[in-house]
Amino acid sequence: MRVLVLGGTSEASGLAALLAKRRDIEAFMSFAGRTKAPVAPPIPLRSGGFGGADGLALYLQAERIDVVVDATHPFAEQISRNAEAAAQRCDIPLVILSRPPWTREAADRWIDVPDMASAAAALGRESRRVFLAIGRLQIAPFEAAPQHFYLIRSIEPVAPSIPRHRVIEARGPFDAEAEERLLCDEMIDIIVTKNSGADAVFGKILAARRLGLPVVMVERPSNGANAVHDPTEALDLILRHGARPAPRGV
Ligand code: NAP
Repeated sequence: MRVLVLGGTSEASGLAALLAKRRDIEAFMSFAGRTKAPVAPPIPLRSGGFGGADGLALYLQAERIDVVVDATHPFAEQISRNAEAAAQRCDIPLVILSRPPWTREAADRWIDVPDMASAAAALGRESRRVFLAIGRLQIAPFEAAPQHFYLIRSIEPVAPSIPRHRVIEARGPFDAEAEERLLCDEMIDIIVTKNSGADAVFGKILAARRLGLPVVMVERPSNGANAVHDPTEALDLILRHGARPAPRGV
């Protein structure tokens, strides 16, 4: 059986580790190619876009892929739409692997918002010191709120058009103690984050809970109703699909 994993997440890496041990599965990982020095997976890697859903469908056909796994980040909307369309067109199963979102506890002061523009608006009129922990791709909406100071954390270098900011280049995991120190040292008033659900970046949520800081929580674009949450569950599903004779065609 030949399996394509669309990755870029720790769940995808977890699944790759399981697939690498299987003799009955030939698995391939695909990255978008945005991170300059990604952690190499233990299965063969291809990198870069396919050229939309059409390009992905052609790739699936050319590489005789039997099952495609969408293990991309819950906020990576386009590639997930493409994966669904291409799998449908090729008549092959799609497995969706995604962590469950974080859920609020009593001590949390979350402000739920649907997107980044709403997150920028939720920071309010008064100048605040904001920890922007959203990666580097969606910083532009915060240019509309230049009254704030932004501490921006990103794996890759970033040069935003925001008057008052500082960039920290760092790759997770980040533990709660270190996050608490960072928030205190930088005198942060409020955090902006996406509800990725990832353990590796949960430290800031715990730290905010302990310090009583508000968190602007950007909700996921999809409710992930068809997703499995764990690499082991994804492997089970792949094996179940592999046991069935699959019709094929584009
Ligand atoms: P996106 O908007 O959904 O995707 C934009 C385009 O990038 C896609 O149409 C596709 O190009 C290409 N692409 C995305 N993921 C790919 C993959 N795994 N393999 C090959 N091509 C891929 O995605 P994004 O939000 O920019 O995220 C890019 C990647 O970073 C994703 O793989 C995601 O898992 C990872 N990531 C995203 C976030 C986030 O917050 N969005 C956070 C952490 C990691 P073509 O149409 O040309 O095929």
